[in-house]
Amino acid sequence: MRYEGRLYRPPSEHDAYILQATIGCSWNHCTYCDMYRDKRFRLRDLDECLEDLELAAAQAGDRVEKLFVADGDALVLPMDHWRPILERARALFPRLRRASCYAMARNVAAKSDEELAELRALGLTTLYIGPESGDDVTLKRIAKGDTFAGHVEAAERARAAGMKLSVIALLGIAMERSEEHARETARLVTEMDPAFFAALTVTVVPGTPLAKLRQKGRFEVPPIEGLLRELRTMVGEARPTDCLFRTNHASNYLPLGGRLPEDRERIVATIDAALNGEIPLRPEWARGL
Ligand code: SF4
Repeated sequence: MRYEGRLYRPPSEHDAYILQATIGCSWNHCTYCDMYRDKRFRLRDLDECLEDLELAAAQAGDRVEKLFVADGDALVLPMDHWRPILERARALFPRLRRASCYAMARNVAAKSDEELAELRALGLTTLYIGPESGDDVTLKRIAKGDTFAGHVEAAERARAAGMKLSVIALLGIAMERSEEHARETARLVTEMDPAFFAALTVTVVPGTPLAKLRQKGRFEVPPIEGLLRELRTMVGEARPTDCLFRTNHASNYLPLGGRLPEDRERIVATIDAALNGEIPLRPEWARGL
């Protein structure tokens, strides 16, 4: 397999074959993110991508059940790349069940309804979208490049095309707007109605705009209690139809899991127990990005 620079994928794609069809992120402005700052965005040459699929098939073609298309917002790929990639993958991996990628709301907006439906028919089943917050003030501060309304519209159109959504929120990103951040994120999860919802905890990575803001005293990660209160509001107020919820990412202090809405009360009770000091939190040394 041929890869350029660091690769990232969601935890649930740990067993997927990763095809790097784009290099970097076409946006690359989010203040907290350093994942692709060392890469200048470009589409990877299509023939190279197809060769990679052939190489992967020669090594493990009958074992590949999942394909994750990287890098940061790979939905940006034009249809004349997506079509041959998904068609070739289906031909080469007989057990392929699904393909997925990271996406921004603006990537969805740039595709027509017909194109989204075609991608779904070709096997692109799941989009990982990280609005991080539903609070428009926070979204602007973190340079997310999309709004509450933009995320809702993207989610509605992707779901109408038959795609599943995995939505990611970021605890601790909003400073004094912590309450608005939590409440509006809960409302956004309700409106986006994803099949998967995960919360991560912000980590200030050296070299990012967020790190510079912290140096200047204009950003600080809230205390653990504040992070847990945000999580409690998000879980307690979000009303997705049927959603798998997780905080098992290594950045979190309290790993949780369950289905919403049926496990809501149990999860909220667990967060309350943690707030009361009755449940041990993940120690600082065991946390990671
Ligand atoms: S869209 Fe995603 S990958 Fe791109 S800068 Fe923002 S967080 Fe990073």
